[in-house]
Amino acid sequence: MPEGISWSELAVDSARVQEVNDAPFPSGQRDFVLYWCMVNHRWEENHALDAAIALGNHLGLPVVVYQALRPDYPFASERLHAWALEGMADMARGCAARGLPYWLELPRTAKEHKPRIAKLGKRAAAIVSDLFPTYIIPGHLQGAAKALHVPLFAVDASCVVPMQRIPAAQVGAYALRPKLRKLWPEYLEQTLPPRKVKASGAHLQPDFELADPVKARAALHTFAVDHSVKPLDEMGGRKAGLKALRAFLDERLEGYEEGRNDPGLGQQSNLSPYWHWGNLFAGEAARAAIAAKGKEHPAVQSFLEELLVRRELGFNFCFHTPGPRQLTVDSLPPWARETLSRHAKDPRPHLYSYEQLAQGRTEDALWNASQKELRERGRIHNYLRMLWGKKILEWSPTPQEALDRIHRLNDTYAVDGRDPASVSNFMWILGLHDRPFQERAVIGKVRPMSSLRTAEKFDLGPYLERWGEPTTAPGEEPKQAAKAAPKKPRRPQRKAAR
Ligand SMILES: Cc1cc2nc3c(=O)[nH]c(=O)nc-3n(C[C@H](O)[C@H](O)[C@H](O)COP(=O)(O)OP(=O)(O)OC[C@H]3O[C@@H](n4cnc5c(N)ncnc54)[C@H](O)[C@@H]3O)c2cc1C
Repeated sequence: MPEGISWSELAVDSARVQEVNDAPFPSGQRDFVLYWCMVNHRWEENHALDAAIALGNHLGLPVVVYQALRPDYPFASERLHAWALEGMADMARGCAARGLPYWLELPRTAKEHKPRIAKLGKRAAAIVSDLFPTYIIPGHLQGAAKALHVPLFAVDASCVVPMQRIPAAQVGAYALRPKLRKLWPEYLEQTLPPRKVKASGAHLQPDFELADPVKARAALHTFAVDHSVKPLDEMGGRKAGLKALRAFLDERLEGYEEGRNDPGLGQQSNLSPYWHWGNLFAGEAARAAIAAKGKEHPAVQSFLEELLVRRELGFNFCFHTPGPRQLTVDSLPPWARETLSRHAKDPRPHLYSYEQLAQGRTEDALWNASQKELRERGRIHNYLRMLWGKKILEWSPTPQEALDRIHRLNDTYAVDGRDPASVSNFMWILGLHDRPFQERAVIGKVRPMSSLRTAEKFDLGPYLERWGEPTTAPGEEPKQAAKAAPKKPRRPQRKAAR
């Protein structure tokens, strides 16, 4: 922190804060401290906003919350815009309730977009934003750092244990887990009460026209985004996120440890988009699950493993891997690189084009169904998402092309995509955070998964009924296997592939 103020004096955990530039505080009078919200679309349980308020209070300045949604971000679509705008409508209400001016810009075309941060930086004493180690966020921060002459801080409001507390990339969940568990007593049950905003910003005016997220949501067709990827029925935003969390805790947490893996049961939390868009903080969900059943309950243990260990493993990988290297086979563990390279020229059993994959026109009915789920529900059931990625690896001309296709398909349709959990899982398909298995053609020693085995393991009837194509020709392997799988009594559930 410039000029001798320390974050701990302001009761802010310095492990959450990254200094993005080394500019000093400006000498003259400024209007506000700016919270430039890019990721964490929430006004409560938000460590970045809290740090901005702490700084504003210390400097005797109001805090302004600024958001902008350009139409030309990678994978921009009606689906993603709708989710963002629903969250922004909540933000407008939530910020108003906390006495925070909320300044929103929504250019409809790339041409309409005006670079704003440098200008706002001339009115601000400091800017606080979100620390998010993938997608376009690190690039935006670096660009802003060059343009600004005031301090720019990025604050980790995504992870329960701040990313900076884990000093290096971890080889797998087994390496990260004990480190996190050691730190949980400090973080897991820590709350973030709303800090009082001391200086009012009611008199402040932006030098641009404020956008209305509700009107924009009703006029998605006017934005220059991909109109073929339609909004989901599910709502984005904090209000919907809190409701979805309550429904999960009340209706599906019991039995989650067994049920989450079974595609037919629908017992998973379905909460991943709400973390991705920062509508919810993972810590508040962890605390709520603990409060509901106790920390030692097997369902709670299982939920914490997914939400705090697997998810934060993704952040750990991205935080310690520079952006351009995050989605390359060069960043795989050496054993995975070697084995994939040794099998690079093996004949592939099927080679599908990107379009065939996107339309779900392969010979594997279960894969086609999961692709349909991705297109229409904006994500895939966790177990089948692994199978979905593994088959793309088998069906692509090279491992790098497989990675590019997984990335493009997932991030085009998935409402929880473009996330550290996306990146680490795409890479997991090719061996990241995993171990070698028995060697096979094409995929070498990378963990295999098959539709047939999946159909033997679960009763896929309900899943295929919902997502399968009625037009699928009879006699295809997965559907046959699904039909053959006993429906009652249910098999005892086995562990997922990981
Ligand atoms: C090829 C592939 C692509 C994936 N793409 C994404 C993605 O774009 N965005 C995304 O959030 N997750 C992704 N995942 C991870 C996982 O599939 C989803 O997080 C999970 O299915 C989301 O459903 P849920 O919220 O019901 O999770 P639950 O099963 O209820 O788990 C609770 C939470 O734990 C976290 N979690 C669960 N499994 C994982 C995992 N394997 N890795 C990291 N975090 C996990 C998520 O935050 C999730 O919401 C991907 C996995 C694979 C194999």
